[in-house]
Amino acid sequence: MSKRFVVTGCNGYIGSHMCYELKKAYPDCWIHGVDRVEKQHLRHLYDFYDHTDLAVDPISIPEGTDAIFHFAAYISVEEGEQQPSRYYRNNVVGSLRLIARAIEAGVPNFIFSSTAAVYGEDKSAMFGHLNEDMKMNPHSVYAKTKAMVEQVLIDTPEMNTARLRYFNAAGRDVKANLFEEHDPETHLIPLLVKNKKATIYGDTWATKDGTCIRDYVHVIDICRAHLLAYKHMEINSGTNMSINIGTGEGHSVKEVVDKVNKIIHNGEMEITYEDKRNGDVPRLVANTEIAETILKFKPQYTLDDIIESMK
Ligand code: UDP
Repeated sequence: MSKRFVVTGCNGYIGSHMCYELKKAYPDCWIHGVDRVEKQHLRHLYDFYDHTDLAVDPISIPEGTDAIFHFAAYISVEEGEQQPSRYYRNNVVGSLRLIARAIEAGVPNFIFSSTAAVYGEDKSAMFGHLNEDMKMNPHSVYAKTKAMVEQVLIDTPEMNTARLRYFNAAGRDVKANLFEEHDPETHLIPLLVKNKKATIYGDTWATKDGTCIRDYVHVIDICRAHLLAYKHMEINSGTNMSINIGTGEGHSVKEVVDKVNKIIHNGEMEITYEDKRNGDVPRLVANTEIAETILKFKPQYTLDDIIESMK
């Protein structure tokens, strides 16, 4: 029988790429796309569009759904600091309502879009890598919303759950003609690609060049990790796992600015410095061991590939 999937946030950056990858992996699958924002130009990616605000609207789960891929969320660290209740309502209430409906409908597999930011600032990991068994210690409101939903899923034995902790998602699928479209855009790489002006938030962090270090992972690799997680859950009943999805390699903001300046702007960028951004932590780099051993996941794209894809 053909697979049936629910993808929430189907019109978002990672959700839209996920729909594309699901159709590639399962050409005759049925995708029930859920989003509170309609985007006609993405309508071809899924079979049914369900205009739903998960925090307030009734949530419909098609009968026989094999898995829910839950991406829908507000995603800006800065905005979360300014509007915490809006973030808790959308990200936490929306997710709890979806989880309750999934259990009621007997959905066997639930894959949650989490974030490396759930680790927060762990002193022991400052110069090492972040392991899944470290305690969650979220710093920003955004990260707290993700950690809360993770905790609920950890305590949800009714279905297989995987919480994928993405490091910094970036890049795009050029062939699929998909883009990273956020309004307003706050993420480093798309901002640098779009504007010849770069603003670096903070250069006095305890890192090699004083700027924050992140692990940038291509969105296509992230989607591949979801497919691998789903395949794992299908044959491992009782799956309940949090897994880092990153490359294991850290790049400072300065390094990223230099690369984008070279690859996209012929070295003509204007670079300025501002105060540290609220909610930031100095270093987030994945320990990739569990993803490698359990999911057999290895990223295929580098930071240069990511920047090239955004030309
Ligand atoms: N950043 C920056 N200038 C910008 C946007 C981001 O210096 O215009 C920094 C930000 O402070 C963080 C890193 O780049 O240290 C990555 O930020 P992004 O918002 O892309 O992802 P986050 O790590 O916050 O999820």
